[in-house]
Amino acid sequence: MFDKILIANRGEIALRVIRACREMGIASVAVHSTADADAMHVRMADETICIGPASSTDSYLSIPAIISACEVTGAEAIHPGYGFLSENARFVQVVEDHGLTFIGPRAEHIRVMGDKISAKETMKKLGVPCVPGSEGGVPDLETAMQLGAEMGYPVIVKATAGGGGRGMKVAQSAEDMQRAFQTARAEAKAAFGNDEVYIEKYLQKPRHIEIQVFGDGKGNAVHLGERDCSLQRRHQKVFEEAPGPEITPENRARIGKICADAVAELGYAGAGTIEFLYEDGEFYFIEMNTRLQVEHPVTEAIFGVDLVREQIRVAAGQPLSFTQDDLQILGHAIEVRINAEKLPNFSPSPGQITQYHAPGGLGVRMDSALYQGYKIPPYYDSLIGKLIVHGRDRPEALARLHRALGELIVDGVDTTVPLFHALLAERDILTGDYNIHWLEKWLERTFEQG
Ligand code: ADP
Repeated sequence: MFDKILIANRGEIALRVIRACREMGIASVAVHSTADADAMHVRMADETICIGPASSTDSYLSIPAIISACEVTGAEAIHPGYGFLSENARFVQVVEDHGLTFIGPRAEHIRVMGDKISAKETMKKLGVPCVPGSEGGVPDLETAMQLGAEMGYPVIVKATAGGGGRGMKVAQSAEDMQRAFQTARAEAKAAFGNDEVYIEKYLQKPRHIEIQVFGDGKGNAVHLGERDCSLQRRHQKVFEEAPGPEITPENRARIGKICADAVAELGYAGAGTIEFLYEDGEFYFIEMNTRLQVEHPVTEAIFGVDLVREQIRVAAGQPLSFTQDDLQILGHAIEVRINAEKLPNFSPSPGQITQYHAPGGLGVRMDSALYQGYKIPPYYDSLIGKLIVHGRDRPEALARLHRALGELIVDGVDTTVPLFHALLAERDILTGDYNIHWLEKWLERTFEQG
């Protein structure tokens, strides 16, 4: 096992990894930008090292700075968290070339899954059901029009290098295709430096269902059921739950086995998430994330396992600490993402926290790097906390979420907490009757009227 791990991240996810390290008796190294000198992850780690200025390009995304930090501190392994360098195959290669261990999958798996076309091709070959769409990239508008006519509208034009909901445009009709195709390409070029796009059938009322998988890198793998992350704004998740309200044990077992078998076949190492759209009882693969997800705690809650600990074990060459049969679902868990944002436009709201009180009690977990007096810098993601609740069943989890949100105090900045109070008053949320379009429609309705 490692003696010392460096965490190439910040915020709540850096704390999450530090906590796992501490329980495993592993020393932790926090890296930080100058803007994060007072951040909680810096206060909590065993050692800290400044790796650059506020701009993440020169700090959290700087491969030389992070490798040097490992050399200076003697860390043997790097946990990338999510975002930043977590899905950067070149980084993994550099880490390995320096004789260090990357806590995550092999570079080749990150590369294959990072390109959505090769990801789909690979998954298709492995027997995973995919969204109907173009075979590979779509080179020009003419081909796009032809495909649209063949597949039937609406269709969605998506960036091959896509992520974070960018470079994605829906074409409702043939007349709409030119706009969708060109804006998707331009957005993809600007965001990823790569304007290749592909086309998929646009599903009308799907749920976003993702399967958590875990491989040991030696051909063994398990699945840890699904998360329903259908409540999204601009293709970004805001509320996640497990198990999925609409998923039956039979459906879970079927898709779970397909996913576990696929990653076993790949020889995949560590945590991964296979994302699907789910409509009328069928699953359609959209992409795979080769890292820990923001919403991993809901899975931890219902299975009672520590996924970060498991990542570290696998990276150190140890076997998975559970078998498929060990993994039994207990109860229901919900996570809400608390962002420093001002409603109704969700505009960033950085600034100083004048008061902070985290909720507690049975079945409540608050993953956050906030503290009273902390100044949220304007340079990074607006996620400031994740509130996760666990109950014996969905109604109990909802009641607990309501109670915990009532206890939470975050003063000094605007947050998305009022959104969740409002959602908990909605019948569709209480019954679990929602799909990927529900939240956008609700926001339109609510804020147009208000
Ligand atoms: P990203 O990597 O940018 O997050 P994804 O491929 O994971 O992109 O898609 C993000 C979200 O966009 C999905 O959860 C879903 O809400 C929507 N989406 C993507 N593909 C389709 C599709 N074919 N039909 C309908 N909605 C889609």
